[in-house]
Amino acid sequence: AGTRFVCGLIGSGIGESLTPAMHEAEADRRGMPYVYRRTDLTALGLSPEEGVGLIRPAGLLGFSGLNITHPCKRLAVEHVDELSAEAATIGAINTVVFDGGRVVGHNTDVTGFAHGFARDMPEVALGQVVQVGAGGAGAAVAHALVSLGAGRLVVADLDPGRAAALATSVAGATGAEVVSAGLGDLPAQLSRADGVVNCTPVGMAQHPGTPFDPDLLDPRHWVVDVVYRPLVTELVRAARARGCRVATGAGMAIGQAVDSFALFTGVRADPDAVAADFARL
Ligand code: NAD
Repeated sequence: AGTRFVCGLIGSGIGESLTPAMHEAEADRRGMPYVYRRTDLTALGLSPEEGVGLIRPAGLLGFSGLNITHPCKRLAVEHVDELSAEAATIGAINTVVFDGGRVVGHNTDVTGFAHGFARDMPEVALGQVVQVGAGGAGAAVAHALVSLGAGRLVVADLDPGRAAALATSVAGATGAEVVSAGLGDLPAQLSRADGVVNCTPVGMAQHPGTPFDPDLLDPRHWVVDVVYRPLVTELVRAARARGCRVATGAGMAIGQAVDSFALFTGVRADPDAVAADFARL
């Protein structure tokens, strides 16, 4: 008999996460025995520290791997033996693989965004890219955009210190041209940009609106929103109405699941099949 996989997700408020269902649907399609459990720290009344404290015991208990999500991605770095290159530069992990006795941390938000982008936006210009939002998702996206070949990446955030710190860290780690800009500079920066990525929570139900004035968009801009609840945000709607090429947050959500599944099992899922699951779920 083949390997039986036991995987899981540790994070807060993950009751609605589609990741467990995406993993199990892919395993079912392949007839692989695969169980994916959630450990919701909110529901269990556990702190983020107690959450990451479960990582090593899960390995000892025979888990194949874990996904780690908010608010544990940074703390979890202290609970692994080894980090992949992306995880080390970013200082955050969303995937843990138990490899024999070793605990290895990866960041499939980085690789997942890159794979999703390559699929949703093939052959778009990357001369100048503007990214709004420099938090957890923003850190992963900035590294991914540089890995995809962004010529000049401009990072803006409500918190200018956070944008500057991310720009410095990505530029330092990669040698790429990454600069920060104030939100007031967005009109000038967007006028020179090929595309823009929203990495703020603006567009979610509890953060309505758009992260910048959509009147700054021209049809030549491509637009990616990483928000995926809802998939069609105000920004996505406004950008489509202006004739922009647009991708939703589904690309990153699907990409991270495909890449984590591959790390857990050694098997690469067909992203189109996972996308169809995602759309159905
Ligand atoms: P975060 O809180 O770590 O970072 C958000 C950043 O946005 C902060 O730095 C904040 O200052 C900035 N910000 C907020 N409002 C802004 C505004 N109006 N203008 C400029 N900057 C602003 O959050 P996060 O974990 O990075 O998540 C951000 C969004 O990305 C959430 O909606 C989350 O659901 C989504 N996300 C999607 C995926 C996916 O797979 N598609 C993965 C991770 C996160």
